[in-house]
Amino acid sequence: MTETVKPLLTQNSDMRRQGIFNWSIPAWAGTLPDGRHYNTCPSAGVCAPLCYARTGAYQFRNVKGRHQANLMMVLDDLPGWEKQMTAEVQHKRYRGRWIRVHDAGDFFSPEYTRAWMRVMRSAPDVRFYAYTKSVSLFREVVEPDPPENFRWVYSLGGREDHLIDLTVERHVDIFPDEESLEEAGYASRAQEGCLVSVLGPQKVGIAANNIVHLKKKQGPHRWSELQRQQDAKRRGPGKQFTSGRP
Ligand code: SF4
Repeated sequence: MTETVKPLLTQNSDMRRQGIFNWSIPAWAGTLPDGRHYNTCPSAGVCAPLCYARTGAYQFRNVKGRHQANLMMVLDDLPGWEKQMTAEVQHKRYRGRWIRVHDAGDFFSPEYTRAWMRVMRSAPDVRFYAYTKSVSLFREVVEPDPPENFRWVYSLGGREDHLIDLTVERHVDIFPDEESLEEAGYASRAQEGCLVSVLGPQKVGIAANNIVHLKKKQGPHRWSELQRQQDAKRRGPGKQFTSGRP
């Protein structure tokens, strides 16, 4: 990486405190400055209207602009993005550090996911992690042969929740508050730090963001509960998913 190339990875204050670097694209669906429509979270479900990354600081012009520029780079020139990201993660500043893939957005296509896997393999001294709702994509593309330095966690509130075996698979759920997640026997991300989601117990809970209108929308429910309710409505009466239920 030359000094003139702007780093692709950033750190917000929370991440900096934890020593984690971050790559981000815009959350969910939107329109790029050139008029193209995108959906970076194809498996989003009830999470979309409750998403922290679609409000607040994420919508500041400079933040949103940067995330959109990141996405355009990926969409317009995936090999070029991969080349630049590969060079960046090999820089000594990332050695022994963690990189979170997607503060917002998700793995939205097999090609993009495979590009990330090659980037990860190119930097064995760096560790990568991600939250994802792209369960079927991970089953097909990542799970058969994951990079050794990559950890991920399935996050509930998506249209593919029913594919996750909650009894054995690592997952996170969003609860109304700290008390309710503790009551349910989940480890608290707020208390243990972001990496607990991929290194700690199999069940990790996150308390709902303090943004008032989002808290109100979520009410007293977990995202997984809201998703189950939505799935049941969509399926119609009398039909059930056969796995993944707590
Ligand atoms: S998948 Fe994540 S980033 Fe995308 S809409 Fe849902 S919560 Fe937001």
